[in-house]
This record gives sequence, structure tokens and C-alpha cells, in this order.
Amino acid sequence: CVLCGQCITHCPVGALRAYDDTDKFFDALADPDKVTVVQIAPAVRAAWGETLGLSREKATVKRLVAALRRMGVDYIFDTDFAADLTIMEEGTELLGRLANRDDYEWPMFTSCCPSWVRFAEIFRPEILPNISTAKSPIGMQGATVKTWYAQAEGLDPANIVHIAITPCTAKNAEILRPELNASGAGQDTDLVVTIRELAEWAVREDIDYFALEDDYYDDLMGDASGAGAIFGTTGGVMEAALLGEVRGYQGVREASVDMGAMTLNVAVIHGTANARKFLDEAAVNGKEYHFIEVMTCPGGCIGGGGQPKHFSVRGCIPPAARGEALRAKDEASAVRCSHENPQIRRIYDEFYGAPLSEKAENALHTYYTDKSAALTGAEI
Ligand code: SF4
Repeated sequence: CVLCGQCITHCPVGALRAYDDTDKFFDALADPDKVTVVQIAPAVRAAWGETLGLSREKATVKRLVAALRRMGVDYIFDTDFAADLTIMEEGTELLGRLANRDDYEWPMFTSCCPSWVRFAEIFRPEILPNISTAKSPIGMQGATVKTWYAQAEGLDPANIVHIAITPCTAKNAEILRPELNASGAGQDTDLVVTIRELAEWAVREDIDYFALEDDYYDDLMGDASGAGAIFGTTGGVMEAALLGEVRGYQGVREASVDMGAMTLNVAVIHGTANARKFLDEAAVNGKEYHFIEVMTCPGGCIGGGGQPKHFSVRGCIPPAARGEALRAKDEASAVRCSHENPQIRRIYDEFYGAPLSEKAENALHTYYTDKSAALTGAEI
């Protein structure tokens, strides 16, 4: 099991549920000694209103921010900001590997999907050196909330409860990886609440979303480029990193990207079965690839295991409208590129220095472990 949660969203009788942190979230909200910090992942905004019967025009992220604020959350940030941070780190890493090509295994794979990382650790440990060391956006946001932000606001990181609202069931396990904790104050991200769980709670509580006024993210980690927004759909990470389009819903899409000095062969894969097949075929067809995006859920995070359940005439592929909502946000963004986001410039000026600096390496990068022993029944 790679924890993608697709069995939950596709069980025909709704018999399966994910591990649920919602009660702990409400305990934290009720505790006067705790400061609650929430981040909202990119693909959440594409689908959160579906369970509540809200149109996409009504189910804006600003209304979700308003609802969270009314629940008593102290600070609310956009994981799109950390997606920009991921592009800065992962893009710089790719350029560094290309500059020293003989020192690295090729191609480089993306690292933002914890189910993909888990798949590689268990089933294909030989490719672990190929996976970018960049933490996922949620991992980067967690490290930054409990270091830079805590310092900037004069908060004790030990009192912060950091919650990720995500479309992803695999994040429940990802936040428990001890190698992700950079702040020295316990887990960098304490809880994961999927958007399905939050919506189910809102239905139970009979929250009137129509009565809510728009509200806005808090400063320092609330602004993102359009590139950060499209992380939630298949091909989005590739497009954000290389500004080349690899759109659509075919399981594997390939392109060549002209970088001036060289041409990069890239591929975009969604779905675990497609990834496994691609690796098997790439091992024998001999084609040279440089950069490959893998997301295990169909359609990427818009089809995540923590999203509202849906019925699709196209099998497992989630409603195309979810992907279109993220691309519309990108196209409407005044800033389209991660490095042009003023808040990203600020965090490097004030804290990290530069992508891949020693401080950035310590807080924003991680490592992977061969877990193939799980195939023999060992606990991992
Ligand atoms: Fe989570 Fe997205 Fe990966 Fe699915 S594709 S497991 S939602 S990160």
C-alpha cells in the first residue's frame, strides 16, 4: 500500500475511511495555550465545495479561509507559497545536477508526492538517488512555519499546532517521517485534515457558507504565483519548473524542452500503475530522460484520495473542471513565475539566503530510505 487513498474514493459501497485528525484539530482550536496555523494545499480549492453542493464560483478559497477563521484558526497560509519554494529548490537542484551530469543518476524525478516516494522506497529503491531531495510543499511549509515565521511573529514553535488541509491521505504518514522535522520543536506539521473530512464536518455543523464574507490569507506566506497553483494537477510541477506545457490526462506524456544549451527530455506520469509500467519500459528502451514528474493519483492531487468522492464516465480520472479551476487561477495571477513572487524573494533575502544554501538544505531538503524489506512483511 502506498497510502494514496484511491481505494477510499473508489470503493463502490463507501466502506473505507482514512485516518482522521479532525478531532485533534478541534482540540487544538479549543486549547488557549496553542497557536493554530493552517496551510491550504493547491488542489483543495478545486474541489472543496463539491460535497457541500457549492458551485465553483461560490466555493472560492477566500470563503474557505473565512470558514477556517470563523472556526478560530489563528493564522492561515497558502501551500501554493511553498509550491513556489519547491520550484526554487527543485529547479536549482536540477540545474546543479545538469551542470555536473556525470556525478548523478538520470533522470531526476520529482519528490512532491509522498505516495510516489513510498512506492520508490518499497518497490524501486534503486531509483532513490534519482529523486529530488526537495521536500514536498507541505514539508517545506512546515519547516518554515516553525522557524522563520515563528521568529518573525515572536511565537514559541513548541506552542504552534500546524495543520495541513489537503486532498491527500498519504500526507497523514508523510508528516510522521522524522527526517522531515527541521524546527527542533517536534513535528514540523502536526496534523493533516483532508478536504473531505473538513467538508463532512461542515455538513454536520450546518455551516452556512453562503453567509460568509471573503477573507484573506495571512501575510508572509499567503501569496503565490500561478505556477504554485497548478501543482495540484498532473503536469503542473513540470510546467511550473520548466515553463513547458505537458497537459492532458494520458497516463504518460512526454516532451522535449529546449533549454538553449541543451534539450531536456521530460515526462509526466500520473497513476501508480503507469509509473510502474514506465519504469519497466524505460529500463529496456534506452531513451535518455532528464526530468520526470510522477503523481500517483489519477489526474494528480485533483484526484487525491482525500478529495470529495466523484463518479466519472472516464473511469478513475477526476472531473476536468478541477484541473481547469487551477489553470484559471494560474492564468489570472499577476505573478506567473515562482522566482517573481515577492514573498519568495523576501524569504530568501531574510532567511534562507539562496536556494540550496546550507540553511535551505537543512530545512527544505530530505533523504529517502530503502524500505523494500516491507515486501517480506517487515514493519517500516
Ligand atoms: Fe497525495 Fe497528490 Fe500524491 Fe495523490 S498525487 S498521493 S493527493 S500528493
